[in-house]
Amino acid sequence: MPERANLVARLRGRGDGPSLLLLSHTDTVLADPAEWRVDPWSGELRDGEVWGRGALDMKGQVAASAVAIASLAREGFQHDGDLIFAACADEEVGEGFGLSWLCREHPEAVRADFAVNEGAGERLELAGSPFYLCATAEKMTSPFRLRVHGRSGHASMPGIADNALVKAAALVERLGALRPEPQVGPEIEALFAAVEGGEVPDARDVLPRAREVSPLAAAFVEPLLSLTVSPTMIQASRKRNVIPAVCDVTVDCRLLPGQTQGEAEAIVRGALGAGDYELEWLEAQGGTRSPLEGPLWDAVSSFVERTEPGARAVPIVVAGFTDSHWVRDAFGTVAYGFFPTRALDAEVAARLIHSADERVPVDDLELGVEFLRHTAREICGGRSA
Ligand SMILES: [Zn+2]
Repeated sequence: MPERANLVARLRGRGDGPSLLLLSHTDTVLADPAEWRVDPWSGELRDGEVWGRGALDMKGQVAASAVAIASLAREGFQHDGDLIFAACADEEVGEGFGLSWLCREHPEAVRADFAVNEGAGERLELAGSPFYLCATAEKMTSPFRLRVHGRSGHASMPGIADNALVKAAALVERLGALRPEPQVGPEIEALFAAVEGGEVPDARDVLPRAREVSPLAAAFVEPLLSLTVSPTMIQASRKRNVIPAVCDVTVDCRLLPGQTQGEAEAIVRGALGAGDYELEWLEAQGGTRSPLEGPLWDAVSSFVERTEPGARAVPIVVAGFTDSHWVRDAFGTVAYGFFPTRALDAEVAARLIHSADERVPVDDLELGVEFLRHTAREICGGRSA
């Protein structure tokens, strides 16, 4: 589609050193100007901040990535591995015109050993010390449908029917009360190692301990501990006076990285118990993980330590979904979501993404450019003789 273009640029390296992909998406969610203090499509610079839809998610990083690669090119950057810039369409809606299409139709354009994408970069103070969050894994978007069966009948005589909607209500309640057994994955281990000096609590104590550190820490830790289920849609009879024989409940479900639908199904069925229902998985997207060590981790860590002495990078799992999993799946790329932000408070940023008055401090854009240039030098830079 001509109006949904992707842009890929490449600085070819001198040798066959590791390649780095600066990954971003150019599309945004919608904006209602009535809710905004400025025109959401203006990109207005006001009090040291760029205002507009996409400032944080993620045109700011698109611009910083373009500036990083262009400035390195102008300076005659000498490097071994290729440095690639890809600004992709269609991340927010996911209709298949963006990175998934590039990976399928033009794999050589976007194949890379390492990638830096959106996903994290927030600065948090935990237990009195500064940390920068780096997204190294994502949960799997894995919705399912419960089809609950009953027997139809005239609504004036409920006694002769078996109302599927009423039966579904009991199942919905059980899903609402489901609290799966928490699990400690490598990201939580690394997080506690960094924040609490190596001591990883028992899985059930992780959330209470995180709450003691701060409510924000708990908010980041909670989705890392288990799958989540949220019933969001329900459909039953189309007529007020007809008792439904079938009721469909659609449930948003996010699995831990590496967790299978089979494992999740055992947990969900365990909560629901026996009944007149079928469980059908509707989709499986994402759920990939990159290792927590290696050259890209070193580049992120060294940048954080240089930028703010005493600060450390810590890994997190993104509860949602980004383009990173396409390159992890297709090429085994080590992909992290990291764009450092320290001028903008992490709680404020979380509120502004996909919301009114989205804006990004110019200081953070400059910090992002520095990070991307640093990483390009560390990963692709002429290390071989
Ligand atoms: Zn995004």
